[in-house]
Order: sequence, then C-alpha cells, then structure tokens
Amino acid sequence: MKKTLIFCGALILVTVGLSVYMKWEENGYKSDMQFSQELSLKDLAVKNNVPVKEILHGLSHKDHKLWDLPRNIPIKSLGVNIDEVRHALEHIKEESNPLRDVLKYILWSIWLSFILIVVLQQKRIKKIRIITLLFSVFLFGVILGATPNPMESIVKLFKLFNGMEGDPKVLAMSFLLFTLFSLIGSKFICSWGCQLGALQESIFNIPIFKKKYAFKMPFFISLSVRLVLFTAFIFLLFGIGYRVVHGIKNFVIYHHVNYFKIFNLHDLATIALYTLPILFVVSLFIYRPFCQFICPFGLYSWLLENIAFKKIKIIEDKCIKCTKCVEACPTQAMKEIYEKKRKHFLPDCWSCGACMEACPTDAIEYR
Ligand code: SF4
Ligand code: SF4
Ligand code: SF4
Repeated sequence: MKKTLIFCGALILVTVGLSVYMKWEENGYKSDMQFSQELSLKDLAVKNNVPVKEILHGLSHKDHKLWDLPRNIPIKSLGVNIDEVRHALEHIKEESNPLRDVLKYILWSIWLSFILIVVLQQKRIKKIRIITLLFSVFLFGVILGATPNPMESIVKLFKLFNGMEGDPKVLAMSFLLFTLFSLIGSKFICSWGCQLGALQESIFNIPIFKKKYAFKMPFFISLSVRLVLFTAFIFLLFGIGYRVVHGIKNFVIYHHVNYFKIFNLHDLATIALYTLPILFVVSLFIYRPFCQFICPFGLYSWLLENIAFKKIKIIEDKCIKCTKCVEACPTQAMKEIYEKKRKHFLPDCWSCGACMEACPTDAIEYR
C-alpha cells in the first residue's frame, strides 16, 4: 500500500507539472482569432499561428477535394463559403482550451489514484463500478467535453508528423500523460477514466435479456480488425503506396468514427452520426465494441499492459479451479490468465475487478 500511495502522489504531482506547462505553451500557441476574407489561407494560418493544413483538414471534412484549394489567393476569391472557413478556424480554437485541459488532466490523476487506493480494495466492486462509470461519463464527458481524450492524443500525434497539427510540445505532453495513466494498471485510463469507454460499458451493464446473449469476442478477431484499421489510417494519412490507396492522402479515417464527439454533438462526423445507433445496440451485447474493434488507443494501451504497474494475478495456492473468474470476465483475458498459456500480449484486461469479486476464495489479486 505504501508503494501505491507514493506512486499515486508522484502521478498527481507529475500531472500537475505537465499540465500547467501545457497551459503555458498553449496560451502562446493560439491566442485571439484573427479573420478576414481579404487574407489568403496561408496568411490566415500565419496570423493565427496554426498550420495551414489544420485549416484545410477542417474544411475537407465535408468535401475532401477542398484539400487542393489554392493557399495564396484571398479567401473571398476561393469560391468557398466564407463561413465554413471561419468555422474551421473557430473549431481549431475551440479545441484548444488550456484551462479545461489542465483541469481535466489533474482531475483524471486524482480520480485514478482514488480508484486504485480506495475502490479496488473493496470486495464488492461491481456495484461501485457502475456508479464510478456513470460518474466518468458525466464528469469527463458531459461536463468537460470530448477533448482531450486518449484516442485523440494518439491520432493527433500522427497528424503532427503529417503537418496537420502545429503544437508538438503540447501534443507530446498529452500523449505522455495518457501513457502514464495507462501504466498505473492494465488499461487503467481506458477502464476507469475514458468518457467513451465508460459510456459503452454503462450501456453494456443494462440488464437486457438478463445478459443471455452477451458475446465474448474472440481476441484474435478484435485485434485483427484494430490492426487493419490502424494500418489503413497510416496509409490514407500519409498517402503511402499512392496507387494502392487510389491517390488518397491527408485522410483521417478515425475522424469519421470519432464517437467521442457525442460529448460535443455539433462536431460529430456524418458517418459517426448515422452509425451511432449501431454502436449503442452492439454495446448491449458486446463489451466495449468501439474499444475492442476500432480505437487506436486501445491498441496502444494493449501493448502497455505488458509493463503496467498493476495487473491481475491468480494466487495458485488459493485457487480451487472453479473457473468462476473466467465466466465473470467480459473478455477472454481471464481465460488466458487462468490457462497460463503465455505471459505477455494476453487479450485486453480492463482492470474491471469482476474476476476478483467472482472468486470464492479471494485467489485473485491486483498486484
Ligand atoms: S480504447 Fe476505449 S476506453 Fe480506451 S481510449 Fe479508446 S475509447 Fe477510450
Ligand atoms: S474480469 Fe477480465 S477484464 Fe476484468 S479485471 Fe478480471 S481479467 Fe481483467
Ligand atoms: S474464481 Fe478463484 S478459485 Fe475459481 S478458478 Fe478463478 S481464481 Fe481459481
């Protein structure tokens, strides 16, 4: 326990330090918006200290052809709706809210420490978890909004390499913080802090058909889909193999399935809007489908699970081989931990504690 307390104290201090530094950096990056239709896109970008590609990216959400707009002639001569250009710039500014970001990161570090020190010490975790998930949806989603979030931290990092983001220090800090939050325990930020993950699990908890049709997705399928999507994202973003992707580049695949934007509804992409009911329905039967099939941060945090500070462990002397833990687990993680076929790269474990609660002999520890 002493080690855990020191770890959590250090985590909160590091988060406060890094997020205050980010606020300071962000303030210098995007101050008041300057807009005039006499300016060219390039001048607009310079005046507002944002990459021109970030503005073009915003404009191209509706029509990908807008990527090819001339950058050196006045906006009024471009033949595009001036309000759309203004909106694209406003959107960039809106996403950059240093005070909200600082508050959110600090609250996340305190919240995750509380979960580790208090909640995961309880024997009956299930009921508490339902409440904490709803709290995460409310605080980190409804109140504090879609941004920042773990998925964007990884997507924006790749966009940065493509010149579509212009704030390397802030993006690196954000990615570092989410990495730290994932190292506390297996998928810790995903499990207890992510607003979209918590929303999906809250839907999964609705006891429809008494969970008779709940389905545990074979891990190799979900991992393969996530990997294929991530590869497609890289190809379409950088235009790798120009012929393979039919000349498409600067296309951000995850933008179109960014369901985090339900916490910022007017920004939800058209595809995400129309497929949202599907996500809700599938979430009733499959545990966190977006996380298991789509989210690139899910993929990254799966790799981090191998070096996470805390993990689920079976104490062999106490185990009576009843397999109740395997039944209780919403994924295939416990099955593989129990069968001990391999030590690393096991199916995603969400640190949910369901196996600990199900075990009649307290043979499972979160070590
Ligand atoms: S995997 Fe799920 S919980 Fe983790 S960041 Fe993505 S959406 Fe959130
Ligand atoms: S029930 Fe499964 S996902 Fe949850 S903590 Fe146990 S092994 Fe991990
Ligand atoms: S529930 Fe506990 S006792 Fe039963 S198999 Fe799992 S670890 Fe062993």
